[in-house]
Amino acid sequence: MSTSSSAKTYHVALVAHDACKSALVDWVEAHVDTFRHAAIFSTGTTGSRLSKAMPDLSIVALKSGPLGGDQQIGAMICEEALDALIFFVDPLSPMPHDVDVKALTRLATVYDLPMACSVATANLIADAMRNQRF
Ligand code: PGA
Repeated sequence: MSTSSSAKTYHVALVAHDACKSALVDWVEAHVDTFRHAAIFSTGTTGSRLSKAMPDLSIVALKSGPLGGDQQIGAMICEEALDALIFFVDPLSPMPHDVDVKALTRLATVYDLPMACSVATANLIADAMRNQRF
């Protein structure tokens, strides 16, 4: 019997504000079987935290968010190079790069990119990835 092994490699951006970085690391660890088959793109500090915790994952670390990393991910969205954005946003702290954060979430909306800004919605995206639903 021939089986099709054309599993899609999801291209996923993972970003977390400082207060949420540990939560993102924990969340990816909980979904590591799914992310082992994904190409991950992260802002600098988030990416280095994830790489340290899970060195076997494929993670491209871009610039740190406040130094342009959010905009680099925004550019990837415009190029339609991403399948999803998981962005653990800190809703309780002012950010010097708030305009970049807004631009990033705005572009994800413009391009109708699956985007999660909290654990509950991120779980739905991880579930959809695991089941190859998008
Ligand atoms: P960082 O950037 O991963 O480099 O901290 C995240 C952000 O604040 O956008």
